[in-house]
Amino acid sequence: MPVSAPSETGCYVAPMALRPVLLFPDPRLKRLSTPVEQVTDALRELAADMIEVMYDEPGIGLAAPQVGEAIRMVVMDTEWSDDGNDRDARVMINPEILEREGSLVWTEGCLSVPDFQADVERAAQIAVRYTDLDGKEVVEECSELRAVCFQHEIDHLDGLLFVDRISRLKRNLYAKKRKKALKLEEEEGVAQGGPL
Ligand SMILES: [Zn+2]
Repeated sequence: MPVSAPSETGCYVAPMALRPVLLFPDPRLKRLSTPVEQVTDALRELAADMIEVMYDEPGIGLAAPQVGEAIRMVVMDTEWSDDGNDRDARVMINPEILEREGSLVWTEGCLSVPDFQADVERAAQIAVRYTDLDGKEVVEECSELRAVCFQHEIDHLDGLLFVDRISRLKRNLYAKKRKKALKLEEEEGVAQGGPL
């Protein structure tokens, strides 16, 4: 999920090659991700890459399938702000919702769904279980934004985007808009000799 307000930090530092975030309607976003069986160095590396991408976008959560890896891992930091010192990204492996209670409507966005937000109904409170990078099992209860973020990111692992949870009419309108934008991007890209 993106942070709710776009970041306006002025200075731009050329980024190291970050993993690109897949964008709707990329079919790889619809895959069912497989459970992680072992915490390996490669997995730690992927988690570190994902955290970098999340802060760079900027976002408060990112799921592995969004960077093309169909495995059940997400990274989240629902508290960080742009001033920099309070970053506390958590890595959640094989996250699973154990309990849901109540419901709320939250206006969601997604790093994989450009230029769109919509109200989505979610459970208001959840209990979630996951394994951290040290292989320790954690059970967490949460509500509000953090509960919404967990549900949104776990949906990614099941091949679902928040646009799959809104009306078909709204989803189709967005898909059309996105198609147009992509076509325009392509034409402009051609006119300018392609992106650098
Ligand atoms: Zn998302």
